[in-house]
Amino acid sequence: MQSKIEKLKSGMLADLKTAKSEQAIKDVEVKYFGKKGLFGDIMKSLKDLSVEEKQTVGKSANMAKKELEEAVMKRYDEIEHEKLSAIAEEEWIDVTVPGKKPQIGHRHLISRFIDDLEQIFAKMGFELAEGPEVETEEYNFDHLNIPETHPARDMQDTFWIKNLEKYVLRTHTSPVQVHYMQKNDPPIRVIAPGKTFRKDSDATHSPMFHQLEGLMVDTDVSMANLKAVMTHALQQIFEDSTIKTRFRVSYFPFVEPGMEVDCTCPICQGNGKLPDGVPCRLCKQCGWLEIAGAGMVHPHVLKNAGYDPEKYTGFAFGMGLERMVMIKYRINHMRLFFENDLRFIEQF
Ligand SMILES: [Zn+2]
Repeated sequence: MQSKIEKLKSGMLADLKTAKSEQAIKDVEVKYFGKKGLFGDIMKSLKDLSVEEKQTVGKSANMAKKELEEAVMKRYDEIEHEKLSAIAEEEWIDVTVPGKKPQIGHRHLISRFIDDLEQIFAKMGFELAEGPEVETEEYNFDHLNIPETHPARDMQDTFWIKNLEKYVLRTHTSPVQVHYMQKNDPPIRVIAPGKTFRKDSDATHSPMFHQLEGLMVDTDVSMANLKAVMTHALQQIFEDSTIKTRFRVSYFPFVEPGMEVDCTCPICQGNGKLPDGVPCRLCKQCGWLEIAGAGMVHPHVLKNAGYDPEKYTGFAFGMGLERMVMIKYRINHMRLFFENDLRFIEQF
């Protein structure tokens, strides 16, 4: 009888060893401890033994059972451990591997150029002014002495706001002049960089573009001041102290007299051709580039802003920033600024 118990015990231990899953262990348990299990057979056969034998054999049978139950629990633990090890192996993370660097952006070339302009003009005492991008017809046109019949007011040039009569996307930064003058007394020196909008789209025009407005008003402001400020600013912008300016008579309703400001071409230094004799394509060999519109602030505009034109004079200028950036950084197409192609943007 004892040997039967021993045999059963070693049999079950061997079976447990080969059980590779929880279900397999369960099957072993059923085989030995189940209702019709092998252990039950031994217990049943106890009844044929003497009382003394019953005690000894029963005792060792119980001990064997207890031992086997422990072996079963141990085997369950082992299987669980193997399972967790497999998961750990599969989902293993090497914390020492260097992380993926997040892509870090930077400010757009136009924004950085505006920062540069702010610094250049700040050194000449110009403060920063801002105005709304959605503007009233009054500020965008009327206060700037732009007559009712002026073609700039045409539906074809201006974005009018739907369902909001007499509102436009500002077509220039000049309305900021009026806003600023109405809120501040002379003397004033301000620049107003910002977005402007016109129905225009080709290689050199975009429906949204940037301008920089400049305004200086005081008791004795003259053309000489305008010329000094523009020349110095352009030399700083193009980082070239040999840059010269010239002023050509032109017409803008909000200045009198009005003029176009040209500067010598920063690529050929005004020669029309490069040092090796190659013709300069940027200035089309003329040596000059149109850079800004300017003039002395029209007395009507001063009056609309609440200033006495007998007492005060001022100059104003406006320049397209994309054009300046294109010249400075030798960029061919205006649309490159707004296509958000990283291959372009990351170059600057
Ligand atoms: Zn040139």
